[in-house]
Amino acid sequence: MRSAADELLAVLDDTVSRGQHIIELLIGEATFTVGNHYPPDDVYDHATGAGFFYHAHPADPRPRVSGPQPLPEHGHFHLFVNRRAVPRGVKPLKRPGRPTKNWGLCHLAAIAMDVRGVPSRVFTTNQQLSQEWVYPAPVVIDLLDRFEIGDPCLRTPVSAWVTSMAVLFRPQIVFLLRGRDRILAPEAGHCAFKSADRDEPLEITSHVEIDIDRQIATVDRALKYAKKRGVSN
Ligand SMILES: [Zn+2]
Repeated sequence: MRSAADELLAVLDDTVSRGQHIIELLIGEATFTVGNHYPPDDVYDHATGAGFFYHAHPADPRPRVSGPQPLPEHGHFHLFVNRRAVPRGVKPLKRPGRPTKNWGLCHLAAIAMDVRGVPSRVFTTNQQLSQEWVYPAPVVIDLLDRFEIGDPCLRTPVSAWVTSMAVLFRPQIVFLLRGRDRILAPEAGHCAFKSADRDEPLEITSHVEIDIDRQIATVDRALKYAKKRGVSN
């Protein structure tokens, strides 16, 4: 995780020193349009099966009846891996309805950026949002650990930022995936994929706020403690 933090900081230092931002690098000169994917054809490494895209959903004018209000965001990255890495015989919790452009993908997590362009939270989704194959958390966590954009043609600062974030915030993503499974379990009463506080499809199954500086400080504290205890890695 420390090396992921180093890579992330290197990307941020590099982009800031050039007066850029990773979202700017993604969007380029185009006008940011809600619903469009950035880049338009997504980033997808055919060798590793890992990919991502950035986009924003139309604002929902309906107020929530209860629960935390969603934080204002500029958009979010969806991270996914092709399900071909899933061992044979593993049953999905949910299959996509019909083949689409992204058929065969398993969603890992999403990283939201606030209106300042700062990563603000990570969250999991269900099929309402991304039309993916939904596998149990342990399977998705294995896929998360395979998330790699290794194709040299795709190794951009944005790809490096996304892959570093997936490693740095792995503990939160693992926590969220396990929480997602509890939410989607039939015994939880949400088997129809309905939200608890209003009668509509549940889109975000679990989420947690994130802070890069706080995360790196936590990693450093853990490493310092491990070193003191004589624990390697
Ligand atoms: Zn989305």
